[in-house]
Amino acid sequence: AQARADADAQGLTLAGAALGVPGLVDDTGRVRLAPNLSWRDVPVPELLAALPPLTETVEGVPALVVDNEANLAALSELHAGAGPGSFLHLSGEVGIGAGIVLDGALFRGVRGWSGEIGHIPVRPDGPPCRCGGRGCLERYAGQEAILAAAGLAGADLPADTASVRLAQLAEAGEPTARHALHEAGTAIGITVSSVINLLDLDTVVLGGGYAPLAPWIRPPVLAEIERRVLTAAWSPVTVRPATLGATAAAVGAAGSVVRRIIARPAGWLARL
Ligand SMILES: [Zn+2]
Repeated sequence: AQARADADAQGLTLAGAALGVPGLVDDTGRVRLAPNLSWRDVPVPELLAALPPLTETVEGVPALVVDNEANLAALSELHAGAGPGSFLHLSGEVGIGAGIVLDGALFRGVRGWSGEIGHIPVRPDGPPCRCGGRGCLERYAGQEAILAAAGLAGADLPADTASVRLAQLAEAGEPTARHALHEAGTAIGITVSSVINLLDLDTVVLGGGYAPLAPWIRPPVLAEIERRVLTAAWSPVTVRPATLGATAAAVGAAGSVVRRIIARPAGWLARL
């Protein structure tokens, strides 16, 4: 409703809406599971039906699309100039999501649920995770884990502020923050090495909250890749911060609406 009011105030025509959710979204827009929101089977399109223009269907395409936040962030990186390559885009927030881009297209998996990299175990006997497993990447490199290791547990910082605060501490050479980021980078490196060995990717993009922390996370990620990726010796893997950083998911969501219209302009023109 706020975004709509802002668009109206600027004299813009609302073309559609896309909602990015950090969880598993099925093809009807229902959020099956979002552990860090404590959401299970939430029918988002029904809940937003009180906003009629968002749920109109144009030529079979709903005006409201619900998608996974990490997928939308990866799409924004793809369209921000990464080109039709292949890469793994990590969204580091409270949870950790991955968008897998293969040959210029997002790989969603059979049911659209690919990319749950935050729940790949780093240490199978590690601490329990919200998903029911143990030792998941999220427990070592999720925002809460990094803040706790940096001595900032309970600081209750919003996601973007937390990364900026950690970056400030690391920049100032604060040893606890630097150690926390090094440990997180090592866990990320162990995990992405398996993904690279499996999928033969040459680029890892550090997105979301990881983007401003890339100067400190990147070196241990690269060290693990060099140690664990079989082909790294003759085919180096690039690890770089995302182009758009914290706004990537929102930009990807907006872009997904625009690209739907470009793909099928007739329905849109009929509404004008
Ligand atoms: Zn887990």
